Amino acid sequence: MRVYVTGNIAVDETWAIPDIPTKGSSIHGNKTSQDIGGKGANQAILLSRCGVETVLIAAVGNDSNGRWIREKMRAEPLRLLPDFLFPCHSDTSIIFNSADGDNAIITTTVAADSLGLPDITQALTDAAPGDVLLQQGNFSLEKTRSLFELAKSRGMTTVFNPSPVKSGFAQLWPLVDIAILNQHEAALLRPAGVKMLVVTHGAQGAWLNTLDTQRFCPATSAAVVDTTGAGDTFLAVMLASALLRETQIDELALTHASKAAAITVSRPGTFSAFPKAAELSALLHG
Ligand code: ATP
Repeated sequence: MRVYVTGNIAVDETWAIPDIPTKGSSIHGNKTSQDIGGKGANQAILLSRCGVETVLIAAVGNDSNGRWIREKMRAEPLRLLPDFLFPCHSDTSIIFNSADGDNAIITTTVAADSLGLPDITQALTDAAPGDVLLQQGNFSLEKTRSLFELAKSRGMTTVFNPSPVKSGFAQLWPLVDIAILNQHEAALLRPAGVKMLVVTHGAQGAWLNTLDTQRFCPATSAAVVDTTGAGDTFLAVMLASALLRETQIDELALTHASKAAAITVSRPGTFSAFPKAAELSALLHG
């Protein structure tokens, strides 16, 4: 059993600046970190660190960032496809943190948008019935729908984390076996008829809804430093826990997920905050 994650991979650059620049201004700033980012990459990295066979299908550009991304991903226990570089800059998120605690973020999607259906179909050549296709909200509605239809035609299990939200995503519920959303996304998209639905509520915890039951799993308390990446950690570890035990998403999967998310929120950054493989192994098998 293998999980195919289709989505984006990016370079996250964080800058400290005195204030958010106004139109026409020129300011000094300090680049404070550079890490791997993108929801597709985050979720694939965490799934693979849990010991799940993982293929990340994401576009990397043919620039120096692209070569850096490939080098960083070689250290992770996953396969990154397509194995060629796209003729564009790699996707980047530039996060500006101003001295007064405000922020502004610029994100490019050119590389993710360049990843065509033929590239993804090629990368899914070996996908078999029972394998999983996991998607987030970074692709267009049409591309997301086509990939779920392809997965269904192959007998794959479909998992959807519709973040960032596009309103049309509400049309896709009939194609989704497992959905995981935060409470704001759930209010916008009103998932209906999904066999397995998980709605996360930040520091409170998460609801697991099947067609006939509802269970609440409280969050694991943590000394919170930075909550970015909590959702990706929760999703990946929840899915891995169920897949490794060859069971449906259950309360134990949510408990494992909330313990892993508590590690992520207790550390600064996103990629650098994610639990390591040894931590995840102790958590899942301890
Ligand atoms: P993200 O900030 O990564 O976009 P999200 O909005 O997708 O997150 P949340 O509902 O905020 O998802 O959080 C997902 C899970 O992470 C929660 O169900 C909880 O288990 C854990 N979590 C989030 N915030 C905290 C916190 N402050 N303390 C402990 N656990 C937390």
